[in-house]
Amino acid sequence: MDREELSGVQGNRLMETVERSYFNVPYYRHKMQEAGLGPESIRSIKDISKLPYTSKQDLRDNYPFGLFAVPMSEIVRIHASSGTTGKPTVVGYTRNDISTWSEVMARTLTSAGANRNDFIQVAYGYGLFTGGLGLHYGGEKIGASVIPISGGNTVRQIQLMRDFGSTVLACTPSYALYLAEAIEESGIRREELKLKAGVFGAEPWTEKMRREIEAKLKIKAIDIYGLSEVIGPGVASECLVQNGLHINEDHFYPEVIDPVTLEVLPEGTLGELVFTTLTKEGLPLIRYRTRDLTRLNYEKCKCGRTLVRMDKCLDRSDDMLIIRGVNLFPSQVETVLLEMTEIKPHYLLIVDRINNLDTLELRVEVDEEFFLDKISQLEELRKRIQDNLETSIGLGIKVTLVEPKMIERSEGKTKRVIDKRKF
Ligand SMILES: [Zn+2]
Repeated sequence: MDREELSGVQGNRLMETVERSYFNVPYYRHKMQEAGLGPESIRSIKDISKLPYTSKQDLRDNYPFGLFAVPMSEIVRIHASSGTTGKPTVVGYTRNDISTWSEVMARTLTSAGANRNDFIQVAYGYGLFTGGLGLHYGGEKIGASVIPISGGNTVRQIQLMRDFGSTVLACTPSYALYLAEAIEESGIRREELKLKAGVFGAEPWTEKMRREIEAKLKIKAIDIYGLSEVIGPGVASECLVQNGLHINEDHFYPEVIDPVTLEVLPEGTLGELVFTTLTKEGLPLIRYRTRDLTRLNYEKCKCGRTLVRMDKCLDRSDDMLIIRGVNLFPSQVETVLLEMTEIKPHYLLIVDRINNLDTLELRVEVDEEFFLDKISQLEELRKRIQDNLETSIGLGIKVTLVEPKMIERSEGKTKRVIDKRKF
């Protein structure tokens, strides 16, 4: 669809969403009335900037079903994501929402090159988390053979991957790396596996991690993006060009804002990603602040899709650490580590406060081959990492090198930061 036509579709769908939310959700009605708005205030997609933002806190304040826009008799599925603080975030789907979700997940898998001849091993968790069932329904929609193995049980994952001939792996990128290492150790030869692609998401991962997964598993590693509040996975996904994630913007309208001033930023500027759902019935969201940082690119992609692309999300506006007054994102550290071949992309940042002074320690794994070298060389490497970090970030960070596999691997989301100041 060309962008002009798309814009018309988005405008019509926005008007419907606003009207539904206004009449069916007291929270939205009150907020719009406070801003002096009614459903008639929205006439095209451009009018979206008049609408107030919605945050995760608003979902919590209306726990569990307060923002649902349909009677519970029309809700056919409930998912929830565990919050780090107290109440989970609860989302509800109507039958049409499940159908939309299957559609956007079918697009996700198709853009990764999958089709009805594929065997999709869904190693995301099944349950209240949206990962497993999201991939599951998308896989069935394209007619692939779905293997709903869920997360964990690595030995069985590898056995079935070989015996069933899985061609597409779906899990978190850190678990893909964990599986790759486990396959190496299991003695199974790569030729015994039919794997060709992986769709990885639910946590931030770098280009270095992508290269490592692609080299170890000999597959195309595709980044997928989503959040349960918006629909789950299926909000955006890379195509085989691997240069930005196409947003399914006929269903989810994206904006990028300054997280402090809340102003909408011009195309290409890094800021906080905001979504408005355009077709959801159960839980419509208007200008929902994701806290994920990214930038948008409206140029037509080499793959032919006209859908806007977003950069890989590496940071969340909440994850910003303030160390001795300096703003720091974990990905800044990762970018420095990316350039050094002697180390693995496994690291942990430990923040503490000693005698009222913030301290920051980086623990990073050294590559197996390199670790066998002389102590003096390791010390030289440690010093070089420390210097590179100080030069690019402007912070003195204590660097500790650790042996390969010393940093805990996770089957779910990887923990990159331990902030002891909060305890
Ligand atoms: Zn593309």
